[in-house]
Amino acid sequence: MVNTPAEIQLKLERILPKVQKPGRYTGGELNEVVKQWDSIETHVALVFPDIYDIGMSNLGLAILYELLNQRSNTLAERAYIPWIDMEAEMRKAGIPLYSLESKQPLSAFDIVGFSLPYETTYTNVLNALDLSGIPLYSNERNITHPLIIAGGHATFNPEPMHAFIEAFVIGEGEQVIHEVIDAYQIWKRLNIPRQDLLINLSTIPGVYVPSLYQINYMQDDTVDKIEKLDDRTNMPVRKRIIPILPPPPTHFIVPNIETVHNRVPIEIMRGCTRGCRFCHAGMVSRPVRERSVSEIIQAIDDALKNTGFEEIGLLSLSSSDYTHITELVKAVTEKFCGKHLGISLPSLRIDSFSVEIMDLLKDSHHGGFTLAPEAATEHMRNIINKPVSTAQLLETTHQIYSRGWTTIKLYFMIGHPEETLDDVRAIAELCKAVLAEGHKVIGRRAKLNVGVSTFIPKPHTPFQWVSCDSVEQIQAKQGLLRQEFRHRDIKLTWTDPDVTLLEAWLSRGDRRLADVVFRAWQNGAKFDAWQDQFNFNAWTQAFADCQIEPSFYTHRTRALDEAFPWDHINTGVRKKYLLQDYLLSQDSKTRSDCRQHCYACGILPTFAEMRRANPGESWACPEVKSPSKFTVNKPY
Ligand code: SF4
Repeated sequence: MVNTPAEIQLKLERILPKVQKPGRYTGGELNEVVKQWDSIETHVALVFPDIYDIGMSNLGLAILYELLNQRSNTLAERAYIPWIDMEAEMRKAGIPLYSLESKQPLSAFDIVGFSLPYETTYTNVLNALDLSGIPLYSNERNITHPLIIAGGHATFNPEPMHAFIEAFVIGEGEQVIHEVIDAYQIWKRLNIPRQDLLINLSTIPGVYVPSLYQINYMQDDTVDKIEKLDDRTNMPVRKRIIPILPPPPTHFIVPNIETVHNRVPIEIMRGCTRGCRFCHAGMVSRPVRERSVSEIIQAIDDALKNTGFEEIGLLSLSSSDYTHITELVKAVTEKFCGKHLGISLPSLRIDSFSVEIMDLLKDSHHGGFTLAPEAATEHMRNIINKPVSTAQLLETTHQIYSRGWTTIKLYFMIGHPEETLDDVRAIAELCKAVLAEGHKVIGRRAKLNVGVSTFIPKPHTPFQWVSCDSVEQIQAKQGLLRQEFRHRDIKLTWTDPDVTLLEAWLSRGDRRLADVVFRAWQNGAKFDAWQDQFNFNAWTQAFADCQIEPSFYTHRTRALDEAFPWDHINTGVRKKYLLQDYLLSQDSKTRSDCRQHCYACGILPTFAEMRRANPGESWACPEVKSPSKFTVNKPY
């Protein structure tokens, strides 16, 4: 394989005319950071394990890129997975995976950091390592290879990838990434064995080094015990958070080609207090911390000047819950009035307040109005803890159509615990009732788009004890919906049951799945999140090759006292709290927004010192005043 940037550049010039969208592979965009390679101590490659068009919108990597490049002794460059045509050309020409900025091969970097936002990127990670000539298994790497690390939401259960990643960063990366770089630099200067680096990393709060832990299994294949192999390592591995959100990044790289979101993403709030029982993001990103309106407005102003984008996304898990949402929306519309700015505000509650907020943005929003009831009956919405009455939903959709929107998008899930075919049929009935509201107001111009995904009982949620629907059950439910949705004004989309199963296996997997991931990749699996590339046979064959029964991970209800493969990862929310919440769901009992009433989920004892040191309204959790009130949380 070629190794120098000059050789890579030369070969690229020959192959780029042969591939689709060569702009994915050139770099050179506005705001990219190119430093003098030889004058920098530590070189970090930030890799998004999917194509450029998707990875460029990843806010987490954009934050790390800006933070790392602010260090004078460190550079950060980007790499994405080449699409099928480009990969074939690269392999033919002997071009390794390289960074867009300097065209250095990934193997030349000190650290390669993967973002793992979802499980269906795992085989792409292996493909990226293979394309880079870096051994896939961590235990085959030596001093000449980069340190391979990963972060992102999927790492809250890191076990299926434990064999390939040397260190996982659990939780928010803004502070811990500096500690990882510092530890790496000290190790390199001392020129001591790689194992010492791993041990040092494993003492940094929030860092999980899987080779320093042993998982023992029972005869029935469930987890018996999780042990650390070195006294110094973290146990449990408590996620990192930052107490106060720092100013948002504003020097976003502007792609030369169309990507999924050509916009400025500004995170207005992190975390969610709603407590939807299926929601992994809501559980693992607690506590809620908010940015001030003035900081957000300043960031938008700076980012628009720095990038020339014409659209902004005000991001959070539940935008209507941002304390100053009305003030923010008014300030944005006043300040940027007349600038033809598109503003998107995702994840709105189902109530008239949300309609009023969106109405303020009417001149600047694009597309339809999106709501996510997730289930169609009040009983089912109580089970999942998303209580909203059907009357309220119909009233809200009536208002939306009345105020000039012609299309509403509704998101539902099938496969919730205790769901029957009648609950599924109710989705169609509710949608027809919503459309009827639209017809009353604007006649046949009213349209409805319905997205139906399938529930996966994710780790660290109150439903982690629950079994998944089988493929046959999912197909029966989807078939019923297709039959019921024969209406020219309703457009129905759904997820492939096989993709759902794969995501469920991997998100609930243990260490034994690492060999399955490897085998599936050998069998040709990659781009698993892409419907046209998804190769389910590669996965079923991989399970068979490894003699592992996949239904063990997805089709059994767990005993309430079962130890899970992810129990040593501490999100701050206690397992006991999740269990109480699961039991409440079985009685259709709900828990209200915990901003109104703290349910002692475990976040405050876990981060008591941090909360005490950061009083005031930037956190949604109650103040912590007395030093003796809380003890450190033990999650299992
Ligand atoms: S500690 Fe209380 S307020 Fe904070 S996230 Fe947990 S339940 Fe909500």
